[in-house]
Amino acid sequence: MNNQYMRKDGRAYNSLRNMKMEVGVLNNADGSAYIECGHNKILVGVYGPRELHSKKHSKPDGAVLRCKYNMAPFSVKERKRPGPDRRSTEISKLISEAITPSIFLEKYPRASIDISIEVLEAEGGTRCLSIVGASLALADAEIPMKDMISACAVGKVDDHIVLDLSEEEDQTGQADMPVAIMPRTGEITFLQMDGHLSDVEFEKALQLAYDGCYFINKLQQQTLLTKYGGDTRGKYNL
Ligand code: UDP
Repeated sequence: MNNQYMRKDGRAYNSLRNMKMEVGVLNNADGSAYIECGHNKILVGVYGPRELHSKKHSKPDGAVLRCKYNMAPFSVKERKRPGPDRRSTEISKLISEAITPSIFLEKYPRASIDISIEVLEAEGGTRCLSIVGASLALADAEIPMKDMISACAVGKVDDHIVLDLSEEEDQTGQADMPVAIMPRTGEITFLQMDGHLSDVEFEKALQLAYDGCYFINKLQQQTLLTKYGGDTRGKYNL
């Protein structure tokens, strides 16, 4: 491993792709966010909390968080068949699980909070960016949260541990490890591993993921401040 290693797209091992975040981009959702990272473009809308009439699906002790991740047919090089598939069902579930620890769901019994994620363009890392965008949209919807969850992928490419894998690095690399954390506590709310890392590589990769997540969390906070100034209107209840 060498810290001078230059990646195919010119980035250093610890560089994120260029990121852009915005909140309040949709008029008809209770909260929304748009996020770009490299060539990824993701739009998130949040509805709720709203009463869930179905007794079968509602919970007496808190809100139900429902999350739908969808890739547009034009979001990838090879046209994606519209509609849900195994991958999008899995990603929807993991995003919901990654975000749940941050929300005071107990404040809204028998209610639902719905998160719709539309991937408009994908270039590797969409599950992590969806978590980042969903947390922003929840804050924009004024849903009480302990913190905004931040996420990024780390992995191993050409024997180097790198941050924020591109699609090519994801496909040709030796390992891919997307991680989400609650920055205030450092709690890991989601971690997947595809490939193999030694113990030493895992420790290095995890530290890099923490560094990436803390940086992204600052951008998330900045994004809310840019939109709402010093007055975050209780959108980020620490
Ligand atoms: N991808 C694709 N077609 C698909 C699914 C994924 O071209 O049907 C691309 C897309 O750029 C995605 C990348 O492969 O971002 C990596 O996909 P993965 O399943 O690892 O999820 P992600 O890294 O986006 O969380």
